[in-house]
Amino acid sequence: MKRKEFRKLISVDKARKIINSLQILPRQEDLPLESAYGKILAEDIITEINVPPFPRAVMDGYAVRAEDTYACSETGPVKLRMLGNIPAGSDAKFKVSAGETVEIATGAPIPEGANAVVMVEYSSEKDGTVLIYRPVALGENIMKAGSDIRKGERVLRAGRKLGTREIGVLSSVGKKDVPILKLQVGIISTGDELVRPGEKLTSGKIYDANSYTLYAGIHECGAFPLLYGIVEDNEVVMKKALETAVSECALILTSGSTSSGAGDVMYRLIDEIGETLAHGVNIKPGKPVIIGIIKDVPIIGLPGNPTSALMIFNEFIVPLLRKVLGSNKELKKVEKGIMGTNFRSEGRQQLLPVGLIRGKVYPADRGSGAITSLSGADGFIEIPSSTEFIEAGTPVEVTLFGEVEKPDLLIAGGFCPGLDLLEDLSGLHFRTLYTGSSGGFSAIASNTADIAGVNMPSRDSRGQDGVLHNIPTIENMGLSGVVLVKGYKREVGLLVRQDSPISGLSDLPGKRLINRNLGSGTRAFLDLKIAEFVAGKGISKKEFTDSIPGYSSGAKSEVAICEAVASGKAEAGVGIRNCTEKNGLQFINFAEEEYDFLIRKEILETPEVRRFLEILNSGEFASKLPEGLHVYERTGEIISFE
Ligand code: AMP
Ligand code: MG
Repeated sequence: MKRKEFRKLISVDKARKIINSLQILPRQEDLPLESAYGKILAEDIITEINVPPFPRAVMDGYAVRAEDTYACSETGPVKLRMLGNIPAGSDAKFKVSAGETVEIATGAPIPEGANAVVMVEYSSEKDGTVLIYRPVALGENIMKAGSDIRKGERVLRAGRKLGTREIGVLSSVGKKDVPILKLQVGIISTGDELVRPGEKLTSGKIYDANSYTLYAGIHECGAFPLLYGIVEDNEVVMKKALETAVSECALILTSGSTSSGAGDVMYRLIDEIGETLAHGVNIKPGKPVIIGIIKDVPIIGLPGNPTSALMIFNEFIVPLLRKVLGSNKELKKVEKGIMGTNFRSEGRQQLLPVGLIRGKVYPADRGSGAITSLSGADGFIEIPSSTEFIEAGTPVEVTLFGEVEKPDLLIAGGFCPGLDLLEDLSGLHFRTLYTGSSGGFSAIASNTADIAGVNMPSRDSRGQDGVLHNIPTIENMGLSGVVLVKGYKREVGLLVRQDSPISGLSDLPGKRLINRNLGSGTRAFLDLKIAEFVAGKGISKKEFTDSIPGYSSGAKSEVAICEAVASGKAEAGVGIRNCTEKNGLQFINFAEEEYDFLIRKEILETPEVRRFLEILNSGEFASKLPEGLHVYERTGEIISFE
């Protein structure tokens, strides 16, 4: 197959110029009020009526001539003759003269002659005579005609994004059909590996994320997304999809297949049926971006990786849509924050996915080769090529991924169902990164998490039965400025199927084991138990573990362990009791481990951490912990490390 290198990579500025020069014309269309939310107004709205259209009462009471009430008081009420009453919506005609009044409801038109409304609370009525106990000023409790919106006023300007308030204004002035801009944006996801959400995931497949993130993003901009679904990596099929989209859309976004790999046909196709304006932008991670035109319809090929696709969308497409829709509202949402940790860049222009937590910015791009996870990022920061190092504390601007609900606490460490319960009961929004206990300690050390859930055991004479959790690790790492908050206990043991002949560690030799990953506290616990078991038996720990196939395996999660055992891929696994029962497995208890929270001292007094600790110490938390997990006398104890 023909391979082609990227054309010369163009700079970000050049790419922006090309994108901004694309000719895209939205159409104008009237939409009924109920469907106009989120769309962009095409014309100025000049109202032809006053709002309110007539002077109206803002209180229930009596329409009066203010001057009639000036002399009255609590003890010396004025007597007025009642002419009748005006309910809301009534067109009853009354004329109020000196010494007269009309009962009036909130929202009803003020009768001729009246110039104020006395609240019903300051009046009494008997046999057609009304007593007023408190004077009112001229105009009191009356809303004048046009005082909200005046006839002839421009109430909304073209380009306004229609939110709830705008929809309210449009309806108040009687607009039923709203002129909006219609910009149809086609979305095509490419890749043989993609499956539509909701369908069965067979081996080698992944769910299509880009179709839906782009769909939502386009919506947020006030444009009209149109899904063309998943297109396989096949030139003929792709060409057909492109041609259909070209005939229906003003702009097309594709994702995937933009590199120069053998299976990546997008750029060749655009070259063939249209014109390629650029292929490759000198920015990380968006390098494989294509800008082209097919039959006057611009097409932008985004990278396949969902985070990259979303970053390029926010960086280039959002400003483009904003310009085309003449939107005067800043659609690209930027929030200021300060760097929460040091970051070393490659000296290349880069869009770095980040989390934004309580004003602090943390890279969500963990280590080289790590798949940046959409769920771990709130947006991204732009790092120019001239910057090689960003120091913690540096102010930065984060471009948000649309309307994100930012987390309150960033939590790393080992997985635990107790954490989910803490989140539910506290009402806080956690961002959890299950890195295993070791990863939790490192995240606290490098300032990239607020709290780490840790359960790392060590052999230590200070501990109960010679095992001490977490403290030895903190000491060995020399962590300072942190506290360890004692959490709760968890039953750890072997997980086996119900009919398994395994009843303890002694049965493991020759049986396939699924172990947790290195760095997991639970794996470390198994090692301690094995060391204990072999002691005095005349065999080394290594001899024993060598006799267990799969001892060196490393499942990243409790769930993966349960699945492997339940499906028969392994005969035993290691984990906590809670997970076993949900999966119909048998649990062979070793002991209890201590799951604690490592917290940076400087944030101990933040409202979020205080709330977290308040829940940890609560009776509700204790009573709702799932089976196999329980609080004890040390729960909530704080151990400080200077
Ligand atoms: P590509 O640019 O086609 O080489 O894709 C780069 C990576 O992104 C691959 O791992 C793809 O499987 C993944 N990818 C491509 N399109 C999507 C999509 N729509 N949703 C989720 N992942 C995708
Ligand atoms: Mg692909």
